[in-house]
Amino acid sequence: MSVIDLRSDTVTRPSPGMRRAMADAEVGDDVLDGDPTTRRLEDRVADLLGMDGALFFPSGTQANQTAVALVTEPGTELIVEAQAHVVHYELGGIALISGVQIRPVAAPDGILTASLVKGALRPASPHVPRISAVAVENTHNAAGGKVLVPAVLDGIVRVAGDAGLPLHVDGARLWNAAAALGVPPDRLTVGAASVMVSFSKGLGCPVGSCLAWRGDRRAQVWEIRKRLGGGMRQSGVLAAAALWALDHTAPRLVEDHTHARLLAERLGGRAGVRVSAPETNIVMVDLVRDGDSATAAVARLARRGVLVVPFGSRRLRAVTHLDVSRADVERAARVLAEELA
Ligand SMILES: *Cc1c(COP(=O)(O)O)cnc(C)c1O
Repeated sequence: MSVIDLRSDTVTRPSPGMRRAMADAEVGDDVLDGDPTTRRLEDRVADLLGMDGALFFPSGTQANQTAVALVTEPGTELIVEAQAHVVHYELGGIALISGVQIRPVAAPDGILTASLVKGALRPASPHVPRISAVAVENTHNAAGGKVLVPAVLDGIVRVAGDAGLPLHVDGARLWNAAAALGVPPDRLTVGAASVMVSFSKGLGCPVGSCLAWRGDRRAQVWEIRKRLGGGMRQSGVLAAAALWALDHTAPRLVEDHTHARLLAERLGGRAGVRVSAPETNIVMVDLVRDGDSATAAVARLARRGVLVVPFGSRRLRAVTHLDVSRADVERAARVLAEELA
């Protein structure tokens, strides 16, 4: 029985075409005097995102942490949605690395809005911490791949701008958001001071993210990355995979979204589960019967060759990606329906 791995869009293996591009990459020492393929990727990403520059990072976490250090000051607060990746999955890095306190704002569907951000602002006072930046996540992982649409983003940018606060966009899946909306990625970065995008999620690369910024901040970003141990040498081997993915994988992301919708449709309306319509490639399945347990369900599904992850005590997460076909999704849906409904 072949295994259908829906645990994350990070489980993809580099395709033969991507591996060839990596093998053929022109390289140099990027820390010493530059790697030409890495530079090409950084220029292309800055251009795609409408930003003034970008650097290549080994991980999204390191790029996010660099961004927070870049746009905040120690002893201040970062306004961020309460379920954000930087809050839950970066091991307190904001506190440790930037000396910054998070000011979590709960949004019912994970999507920050102008009025939520406005509500978190406080009048200046010698008694309360100053806020130094705002961060948003697009798409929002814990909210089930929800898209932060341009109109809402513009509102946040306006409120943040009025308060003099820079905005960081955690866009690990910004490519998915752009594909779902049918807009160019730079529409989703308007007004942002910094943007992180990943290549190791839906784009299917083994490694890599970029942090892009507005203004003249290359030296600062370089310094923070180097301090965190993110300077890489012949990184062109990895950047070549990302360049290949921008050409070959990004255009097919909508297929993953179609597959996610298909999975949700097959489960929708069945007793025992509740599934909301996915906007991108993440499907959240809630178990609604008393006594249901996500970990027990994950184990039952695994025995039948379908891998998903628990996301809370009665919630499962399934993520579609380029290594699952429509037939895989049909089979996974049958197994989920039989085991859960
Ligand atoms: C995966 C992810 C990250 C971190 O990326 P890594 O490369 O795994 O460190 C950051 N933000 C979001 C929203 C993510 O999904």
